[in-house]
Amino acid sequence: MPELPEVEITARRLDEALAGAEIESTMAPGINALKTFAPPLHALDGRTIEGIRRRGKHLVIDVAGELAVLVHLMSAGRLQLYDKRASLRDRTSRLLIRIAGGERELRLREFGTQQRAWAKLLAAEALRADDAVATLGPDAYPAPPMDEFSRLLDQPRHLHPLLRDQRTIAGIGRSWVDELLWTARLSPFQKGSELDGDARERLHAACDDVLGAALEHYEQVIGDKVPDKLPMPLQVHRRAGEDCPRCGATIQAIHFKDYVMCYCPEEQTGGRVLKDRRLSRLLK
Ligand SMILES: [Zn+2]
Repeated sequence: MPELPEVEITARRLDEALAGAEIESTMAPGINALKTFAPPLHALDGRTIEGIRRRGKHLVIDVAGELAVLVHLMSAGRLQLYDKRASLRDRTSRLLIRIAGGERELRLREFGTQQRAWAKLLAAEALRADDAVATLGPDAYPAPPMDEFSRLLDQPRHLHPLLRDQRTIAGIGRSWVDELLWTARLSPFQKGSELDGDARERLHAACDDVLGAALEHYEQVIGDKVPDKLPMPLQVHRRAGEDCPRCGATIQAIHFKDYVMCYCPEEQTGGRVLKDRRLSRLLK
């Protein structure tokens, strides 16, 4: 699942390649991917791409004439630039934006059988009012000012879902939340409103440090084109059973229906190994 650092590097690379380029034509082979019908997709034909940016986990393609394409990659989508146009038989194609003056094509693709990635073509003012954007909290990177961040945390909810709630703070998902909590040495089951000042400051610093370092890493290792699978610099997420890189304790995991939460028991939960629901379900 692409989160803030992955979507941001995608936006930067596409912006570098496509700002100022003219759109020749468009197609939406994924019948469910395009969620809007007015203006029609062909309103983009012949127009100039002004830039590509990120908001939360969304990508926004700003197009001359006060138009914008809002894209959400969901878990398996990718927005990538190709030098050659897609075969019409390519079943991963959801939205094709062909660039004038050559064979280049900006392609929204999706892997797997599910069709969940989506795009909306909106007038610029409708973009600001669109639910997907209007309900987003401030971006997690750069982190909002400390007093605002502290107010956002002031909810009687566990930190893991709280930080993944895009209405509270935008851009964090199931991978990076583990890294942030580990860096700040906080339990995923601690409640936001119960954090003391020092814990809030550690979490605030972690947003800038961890997400900033991830972006720096991508800037170093990713060339002109963003690959299908990004080399995510994760230290605890999906590393259950390995040694904690900081203290050497064994990283533990809790399995939920469609994700895994990883943590260091020594530094995050006071030495306690929390009950793994998958394990307890198997033992019933
Ligand atoms: Zn540790």
